[in-house]
Amino acid sequence: MNLTTYKKLHKKYSILPLPREVWGTPEHDAFMDAFHNNEECKTWDLKQRIKKAGINYKNYCCLDMAYHLIEDIKSKRSENVNYDCVITYYKKGNTFGIPIHDGGSSFIMIKYCPWCGKKLA
Ligand SMILES: [Zn+2]
Repeated sequence: MNLTTYKKLHKKYSILPLPREVWGTPEHDAFMDAFHNNEECKTWDLKQRIKKAGINYKNYCCLDMAYHLIEDIKSKRSENVNYDCVITYYKKGNTFGIPIHDGGSSFIMIKYCPWCGKKLA
């Protein structure tokens, strides 16, 4: 699948919740395959999601880190535990970590990006 086709399908499949009858159709499968296996499509898609969340991906080591911080931002706006949050950024200490989902703000500090391997500040 090329990026032009992916962008067209993205309009169709980015409206959530996606109806269950769409799951597993050949077109949706091809779309998901492009997201997971076509670097150009995945990069474009992640940049859309990151931008929509108000994050400047250039401030982070990689797109994956910026993308996964979307859930961290949502977590910090809510009182509820966000189990989708897999990475947190503690601005004051310029520290990244794996959140502990116990209702508090504790996390396990990490020194390297889990996605690109770059040393974190
Ligand atoms: Zn990274």
